Amino acid sequence: MEFASIFNGLGARTSLLYRGEHLIKEFDADLGITLAVEMEKKGIKIRFKTLISKIEKTGDEIRVTLADGTTGSCDVLMYATGRAPNTKGLGLEEAGVKMADNGAVIVDEQFQTNVESIHAIGDVVDRMQLTPVALAEGMVVADRLFNTHSRQMDYQFVPTAVFSHPNVGTVGLTEAQARAKYGDVKSSAPTSRRSSTPCRTVTKRP
Ligand SMILES: Cc1cc2nc3c(=O)[nH]c(=O)nc-3n(C[C@H](O)[C@H](O)[C@H](O)COP(=O)(O)OP(=O)(O)OC[C@H]3O[C@@H](n4cnc5c(N)ncnc54)[C@H](O)[C@@H]3O)c2cc1C
Repeated sequence: MEFASIFNGLGARTSLLYRGEHLIKEFDADLGITLAVEMEKKGIKIRFKTLISKIEKTGDEIRVTLADGTTGSCDVLMYATGRAPNTKGLGLEEAGVKMADNGAVIVDEQFQTNVESIHAIGDVVDRMQLTPVALAEGMVVADRLFNTHSRQMDYQFVPTAVFSHPNVGTVGLTEAQARAKYGDVKSSAPTSRRSSTPCRTVTKRP
């Protein structure tokens, strides 16, 4: 979404092929729906539930075949594959460090691996792949090693932003998560000055 917004903003005719049913599925559904509407208003064509089965380069053209057999072409294609911990070749296996099947380094609450002298933080531990989270995890390790007090990371209320146009930000539970966890919650979605900026607060009823 972020790069589609950038390319479109720079004047490129931009299509976004999206695997899921709505954008940013980890967020409240209405945020994803509003984002799609607003991105389309800016000229980005969005296709949902769309899988690419083949990409071919012929001369200056990139030909894309979708899972339903339809084809299209473009001159630049950005394929977002997601991220996996890049731990191969670091010598971790040789040091006896335990890793998960996807290569993530397994650590305890203090970011210590099964090898006492080796700690890991950030994307390689595959908890929440964000820069401020990696920094905060580093501070937990530094406090433990150098300030001799131990504390734990709290991943519950990490603000998260999507730098699409328009931007989206969230913190805390989604409404669905709050309902699943607390049952009776009050959701208020005040009408803001611009309909393109929905705002929502979910609180537990007293
Ligand atoms: C496209 C994109 C957009 C993102 N946008 C945001 C955002 O808006 N906000 C946000 O909070 N997070 C964002 N992230 C996530 C953020 O970049 C990561 O969560 C963060 O960088 C993790 O920090 P890290 O120190 O764990 O890993 P990294 O920042 O990846 O640092 C790892 C370092 O190790 C080095 N390295 C790797 N292998 C070796 C080796 N064998 N020997 C020596 N060095 C090695 C790498 O070169 C790199 O410098 C984004 C990520 C991507 C890919």
